Amino acid sequence: MSDCLFCKIIAGEIPANKIFEDKDVFAFHDIGAQAPHHFLVIPKKHIATLNDADDTALIGKLALTASKIAKELGIADDGYRVVMNCNEDGGQTVYHIHLHCLGGRPLTWPPG
Ligand code: 5GP
Ligand code: ZN
Repeated sequence: MSDCLFCKIIAGEIPANKIFEDKDVFAFHDIGAQAPHHFLVIPKKHIATLNDADDTALIGKLALTASKIAKELGIADDGYRVVMNCNEDGGQTVYHIHLHCLGGRPLTWPPG
């Protein structure tokens, strides 16, 4: 998608602090970090919202990639949170699905 911010990040047209990339997924630090560690894992394939997703393996890979990176960052044992916002009430602002992973501090529940 030519007008999608995250597609542009994947393409290298907009700079991002990349953590990991393979043929399916791309992970990078969130520009507005809400925790000492806050990164996003996105599919390389453009999917606007979770409602539009039908690739079970790809959606699962987002979570396992987050877990792998959390282990590498040293936050896995203390814990972290993964969340995907969907549409307006879910707080989604970028319409290319992304799994947030936050850690490095205790997180409260429920979210706002
Ligand atoms: P959403 O609200 O859609 O779940 O999350 C979008 C996230 O993308 C936000 O946490 C926001 O800080 C992050 N974000 C928005 N624009 C950029 C950008 O240009 N670069 C990076 N690295 N993150 C971004
Ligand atoms: Zn996109």
